[in-house]
Amino acid sequence: MTRINATQSDATDPLRHFRERFDLPDGVIYLDGNSLGALPKTVKARVAHTISEEWGTQLIRSWNTAGWVHLPQKVGGRIGRLIGAQENSVVAADSTSINLFKVLSAALSLNPGRSKIVSERENFPTDLYIAEGVARQIGQGHRLVLADKPADIPAMLADDVAVLMLTHVNYRTGYRHDMAAITEAAHDKGILVIWDLAHSAGAMAVDLTGADADFAIGCGYKYLNGGPGAPAFLYVNPRHHGGFRQPLSGWFGHRAPFAFEASYAPSNSIDQYLCGTPSVLGMVAMDEALALWDEVDMDALRAKSVALCDFFIQEVDSFAGEFGLTLVTPRQADQRGSQVSYSCDNGYAIMQALIARGVIGDFRAPDIIRFGFTPLYLSFAEVSEAVAILRDILSTRAWDAPKYKVREAVT
Ligand SMILES: *Cc1c(COP(=O)(O)O)cnc(C)c1O
Repeated sequence: MTRINATQSDATDPLRHFRERFDLPDGVIYLDGNSLGALPKTVKARVAHTISEEWGTQLIRSWNTAGWVHLPQKVGGRIGRLIGAQENSVVAADSTSINLFKVLSAALSLNPGRSKIVSERENFPTDLYIAEGVARQIGQGHRLVLADKPADIPAMLADDVAVLMLTHVNYRTGYRHDMAAITEAAHDKGILVIWDLAHSAGAMAVDLTGADADFAIGCGYKYLNGGPGAPAFLYVNPRHHGGFRQPLSGWFGHRAPFAFEASYAPSNSIDQYLCGTPSVLGMVAMDEALALWDEVDMDALRAKSVALCDFFIQEVDSFAGEFGLTLVTPRQADQRGSQVSYSCDNGYAIMQALIARGVIGDFRAPDIIRFGFTPLYLSFAEVSEAVAILRDILSTRAWDAPKYKVREAVT
């Protein structure tokens, strides 16, 4: 690999003008946009407008006049473009966990007579917890079976598997699955596939249509910058739209919510996956945050993401061994997302010391320090500075102070 030079890379970066579209505090190098994306500047005014003009003045009329009622589909459409979804096959709603409950229940009902859900032990815990809950709820011998490592998955795709449920990019290691190949292998065995795009949407172009995925879910508050607790999203392949029901049969999924019928009749569009009244302030923030993505060239985004990660790895390589940092993210770009993680002793304290110096990443138990690279608002110069600060903290053992070892509720 040719060595990456920060000054040169910044000078030729086609995305560098996006930085000014975000509010970022001085003195902070933000390497945690994979956990909570930064604030796009226009979101503040848009949310303020919604509060004072729409809620404060137009009141209930705003459901129609300001289009509040259509926000789940509007926001879903904007996300759909980034993940290669067909028209009208994505909605924004609820949380990722709840959306997984809906699509996993739906997928299992589409594949009766098969009892296994296959996933990975390393998957994000909420995905596994929800799958356990769904299996228990159905109560027909369904069970979750976990692969210890990605290479074990193909051999687990047997005739009794109903659903393969994977996260495209692993939240701790950054490992990325080959979505098209795995989906095809599962389909060959009659298995439906759910992809969690929490660490993919907004980090790279995703092609759900090309991969022929059955269902997908993902977060709004990570690379999509929708704000803390932003609405999540949910994709259903159009071939599955009308064929079955998801169990959270709330009125927003009814074919005519305002007919106020006594009995549930599901919409046969993607709308069936809505449940109750959308969180309008969250939807508005999300809608505004997504507007700037219309201008983003996703190939340029991915190219910069790869270069930022390669650059970070290249620079940390020069001292990782000396200080016991082990790279757990694949070096090969086509096997990873947009983050770089190291396992190490004292990772929590090291990360706290970094944050105290303005370099914000995060820690994932038991021993991972994680750095997210968001191409829209990070420069190579910042990455270079973050590496220098990391090196300084390690060589001076600045992390070895009691104040850096006190665990907060959120790590
Ligand atoms: C962040 C993340 C979630 C979060 O789920 P919430 O319901 O929004 O709390 C779920 N799955 C994966 C893979 C994640 O990375």
